Amino acid sequence: MMSHNYVIALHGGAGVNPQRDYARVEAHLADLVDRCDEMLADGASALDTVEFAVAQMESSGLYVAGRGSAPNDQNVVECDAAIMDGARLKAGGICAATDIAQPIRAARAVLEHTPYILLAGDGAKAFARELNLEMVADPATHFVLPVGVEAEEMLKLDKGLAHGTVGAVALDMNGELAAATSTGGLLGKRAGRVGDTPITGIGNWADSDVAVSCTGIGEAFIYAGGARDLAARMAYGGQSLEQAGASLLAAVAQNRGDGGLVAVDRYGKVAMPFNSAGMKRAVSGSQIDRTVSIL
Ligand code: ASP
Repeated sequence: MMSHNYVIALHGGAGVNPQRDYARVEAHLADLVDRCDEMLADGASALDTVEFAVAQMESSGLYVAGRGSAPNDQNVVECDAAIMDGARLKAGGICAATDIAQPIRAARAVLEHTPYILLAGDGAKAFARELNLEMVADPATHFVLPVGVEAEEMLKLDKGLAHGTVGAVALDMNGELAAATSTGGLLGKRAGRVGDTPITGIGNWADSDVAVSCTGIGEAFIYAGGARDLAARMAYGGQSLEQAGASLLAAVAQNRGDGGLVAVDRYGKVAMPFNSAGMKRAVSGSQIDRTVSIL
């Protein structure tokens, strides 16, 4: 059913270093959210749009995801990503993956070409190779960029801020919802550690009512029930999108974490709450003026 109402909301990760100049990130988010708005206005699906948005953020090197990711305690970048199509109720993800240039493309390939939801480590790498996805020749120089120093700056400032994630949620003109999320995880994390991001229902979720992408301390989001808990608070608890987002973040705080999320419901209502120190975010839509915010 064509409703002609569409929305795109992006985040570039919870946690902001107040001493850093975010002008480049703000300009990037503004340009990207405009491009996603145009795609949706031209009839692109929510799924294609969120995949595009996250792939662009991964490639930019401006965020702690894809290019710009921070290394683990073995000095290796391990990426996690997930994508979900709310219309088909189908998801794909990869975790602890090395050498894959755009983790969200691999997550989409898992969604489209396997009966599984999550592929890990070497298995994810082999799968990406088989699908001829772009691989990285030298992960140490590809992922850990000079601009990726944001994570190192953050570490000096506050260990708790040394992480980052990117995400996108969209409602398209057919009334379909999708969510995509990608992360380099926590800076200096133990090798093999996987957080909430690639786990469908926790860091990322979309169904026919709502699409959600989370960012923050992954363990706390897992204990709090994550994105699907937000959907359940709406479906069974009768909460509004805002109430459900706030309730999830309160549960995250109770579980010794902080963070934020972007969410859109089937009516095109958007929520972008956070209880971290800032969250890079942007929104635009057929009935919503474009805004970009950091704090
Ligand atoms: N949620 C991510 C993780 O715990 C990190 C982040 O969002 O900054 O791996």
